[in-house]
Amino acid sequence: MPKRSADSRLSRRRFLSLSSTAAAALGIAPLAGKPSESFAEDHPSPDDYYAKLGVAKIINAAGTYTYLTAACMPPQVQRAVAQAALHPVRLKDLQLAAGEYIAKKLRCEAAVVTSGASAALTLATAACVASANGASPQEIPENVDKMKNEVVVQKAHRYEYDHAMLLCGAVIKEVVTLEDYKRALSPKTVMTNFFNAAASGPDGAQIDRETWLRVAHDHGVPCHYDAAADMPPIENLWTYTGMGFDLVCFSGGKGIRGPQNAGLLLGKKHLIDLAVANNNPNSDAVGRGMKVAKEQIVGMVAAVDWLLEQSDEKNQAEYMRLTDIVVDAVKDVPTMKTRVFMPPIANHVPHLLLSYNPSVVGLTPQQVQEKLRAQTPSIELNPATGTSSRNGIPSDENTIVISTWMLQPGEAEIVGRSLRTTLMNTHA
Ligand SMILES: *Cc1c(COP(=O)(O)O)cnc(C)c1O
Repeated sequence: MPKRSADSRLSRRRFLSLSSTAAAALGIAPLAGKPSESFAEDHPSPDDYYAKLGVAKIINAAGTYTYLTAACMPPQVQRAVAQAALHPVRLKDLQLAAGEYIAKKLRCEAAVVTSGASAALTLATAACVASANGASPQEIPENVDKMKNEVVVQKAHRYEYDHAMLLCGAVIKEVVTLEDYKRALSPKTVMTNFFNAAASGPDGAQIDRETWLRVAHDHGVPCHYDAAADMPPIENLWTYTGMGFDLVCFSGGKGIRGPQNAGLLLGKKHLIDLAVANNNPNSDAVGRGMKVAKEQIVGMVAAVDWLLEQSDEKNQAEYMRLTDIVVDAVKDVPTMKTRVFMPPIANHVPHLLLSYNPSVVGLTPQQVQEKLRAQTPSIELNPATGTSSRNGIPSDENTIVISTWMLQPGEAEIVGRSLRTTLMNTHA
């Protein structure tokens, strides 16, 4: 696995296993009494562009956040990416074949690899605009204001990805009640969007997904379902299309652990065909700037193959084992209370909540977060740390939040030790 400490250990082990002549032949400088611990840091491989660029590698105790580059690809996906880089192909051939392969594996009519869930939402919107109006890719977004152009969304499902739909010139119509919804579905409606993770919760939406889908279909309107961060469980990759949602998007670089700039749009064949028509490499199409390189298309397919060999039970047990390592390290910090929370929908993995009294310990969770970020190796805690404003995770100003599923071997121990040292060394 490509990770900071594994990298260092690996290169160290590889180095130590070479005779000095072999090392000399390979142009590796001798250790010359230097502590081996710092070797990989001081002499990064010439291909290590993070080191060359001076960009800190982090330990991700936060989760699959885009701003933290989300997941790392499993070795078999990395190998597929490297293989794909060796030869050019015809991009459309690859896009088509990848889509057909994924559709078969994920039990839907059709699929397309997109440059992420956000791009999938844009292509879904373009497909629905095209379907409702017979519009050509060239007309989107320029002429969309003169067409059927409305997307119906529950008020509680408005989110930071609305932009992906607006890009097509669509107009969003907000609804709250079922009555609103029925009224809003008009001859101008081209699609609906349902944000899965906002489906439940205290200020959640009034209309559940079965009702949402049935009413839209009664009006002949296609439904897009945003399930970007909604794997695990693995079966979600076919649950929502199986329910009848016309289009479903997933992020490729989050739980699926494909390339970060890849994603999936799954769904009905006639709509996926229209999404493809609005996608690159076609010019003069809204998806022209959302290109996925051959390496990442192959990586996305390989990630799907990898995922289908996984077991949710085994993965969750491993995330819990890592969570327990952190709990063990911090459990005797004064006033510490630990608990594990599993979000029911989206990022459905253990989140460790470490609650304590900052005036006893001497540091607030946000101060701890800053300290761990500033140290080497730099550790990123979950952004819900020290705040109650991240919906979905029941945190507060006295709580540190950790998610272990993106940790690589050996890192849970480092996170536990760093937390313990930071929290124990503070009170005077
Ligand atoms: C992450 C996310 C996206 C965007 O996914 P990308 O693959 O980064 O484009 C869209 N919707 C939701 C709900 C997400 O969590």
